[in-house]
Amino acid sequence: MNPASWWRTLNIRTRLSAGYAATLAGLLAVYAGAVFLIVSERFGAEVDRRLDQEVEIAERSLFVAPSGSLEWRSPAASADEHEPMANMLWVDVHRADGSLLHLQLGGFARGNPVEPLTFAPDRSGFFSVAQPNGTRLRILQRHIVVDGGPKAVIRAALAEDQIRREMAIILLVLGGGLPFSVAAAGLAGYWLARRALAPIDRITEEARAITADRLDARLPVLNAQDELGRLATTFNDMFSRLENSFEQLRRFTADASHELRTPLTVIRSVGEVGLRESHDEAGYREIVGTMLEEADRLALLTATLLELTRAEGGRGQIKREPINLCALVGDAAEFLGVLAEEKGVVIALDLPALPPTVLGDGTVLRQALANVLDNAVKYSPAGATVTVAVQADGERAAISVADQGPGIAPEHRERVFDRFYRADPSRNSRTGGFGLGLAIARWAVEANGGCIEVESAPGKGSVFRMVLPGGGAT
Ligand code: ADP
Repeated sequence: MNPASWWRTLNIRTRLSAGYAATLAGLLAVYAGAVFLIVSERFGAEVDRRLDQEVEIAERSLFVAPSGSLEWRSPAASADEHEPMANMLWVDVHRADGSLLHLQLGGFARGNPVEPLTFAPDRSGFFSVAQPNGTRLRILQRHIVVDGGPKAVIRAALAEDQIRREMAIILLVLGGGLPFSVAAAGLAGYWLARRALAPIDRITEEARAITADRLDARLPVLNAQDELGRLATTFNDMFSRLENSFEQLRRFTADASHELRTPLTVIRSVGEVGLRESHDEAGYREIVGTMLEEADRLALLTATLLELTRAEGGRGQIKREPINLCALVGDAAEFLGVLAEEKGVVIALDLPALPPTVLGDGTVLRQALANVLDNAVKYSPAGATVTVAVQADGERAAISVADQGPGIAPEHRERVFDRFYRADPSRNSRTGGFGLGLAIARWAVEANGGCIEVESAPGKGSVFRMVLPGGGAT
């Protein structure tokens, strides 16, 4: 298994804490390295500064005797608060011919006897020397001219071991603390990640229990403000929508079966009665006529259901073509003219001089208008007038269909657009429609980006208004 796919097999909390610990380890290592470099650099500079100081003190202690020979004068102790020779191994002064003028063993050398190195007159400046016994010395060797006369070479030496020991301790503290800090941070990270992700386990458990039969169940929302809370809320909203759709589907299936059962029951019982008793030809004709009538209703219902299902299934195929609303209204009025005439209802048109145009699917909208107009004619008493009006204000256009029928009670007003909903329960499916016409009209108008609304009061007629976006004059 390659490392990338192995990494993906780990759970999120392990990955989070491991990634966190690795990042911290990298940062701490860089930090420790930088600290170590800076400290060792500063220690080195401090050593060289001390050597330089010792050499300067020694330089001031040299003078030329009246005889012309180079002499050493002990400096007054702690004259300038400097403790001479502290930490030093030794300071020595050689004459130009290489003979030793002065040697002073330093405080550090007490108890650690150190042999001064063999004098090498050619060397100059700072240098480090490794002793055979393993100790390392840092030496400053400076050539000077005393009072413009004799030359001398001053050497100051310091053991680097103590500094090295201190550096080793620092390295140990920095390096040794690092794994502990990283391990502690990793564990703390793991604990935090576990705590933070614990609700996911609960959400997973709860989500597993939600099935099509239990769509009313909801996920626990522990804190609606955090990411997991928002996730659970989003899921809960989705479950609500699913529950709604399932409920609608269930209702639709139940209503459709109910509607289909009624004509089937009628056909069956009429047939049974016809078989049980003997009839004359006219009697049989009437029985067959009733059966055909019911079969027609059955055919019409299945065709309407099919139309609705097809329409809703083909939501994406709505056309967007310019539709002249006045022409659309004229068409629908003509189409339903015969029906209105039969009922003694007059269809009056109230159209603007400049016909407004909207973008939409003409066939679909014509169907919606036909359904609404059909209802207006169907529910109007003989001699009544149905007025179809078109209005537009440039941004929106509306087609309204006003009738002088029985009106719709407030409790039914919103529901008349639901499938299979009939406002008047006494008007059964044999005399009225199936309760699908307005459902189709609502779908058609909404699919064209508009909305359909109704204004009505019992006894005062109804006004159905289809509002569509657009509507500039052509
Ligand atoms: P239906 O085929 O039964 O007419 P619709 O979906 O077209 O079904 O209408 C649903 C119900 O709304 C009708 O059963 C009727 O009670 C009520 N309704 C619709 N249009 C009108 C109207 N113009 N006047 C009074 N009631 C209406």
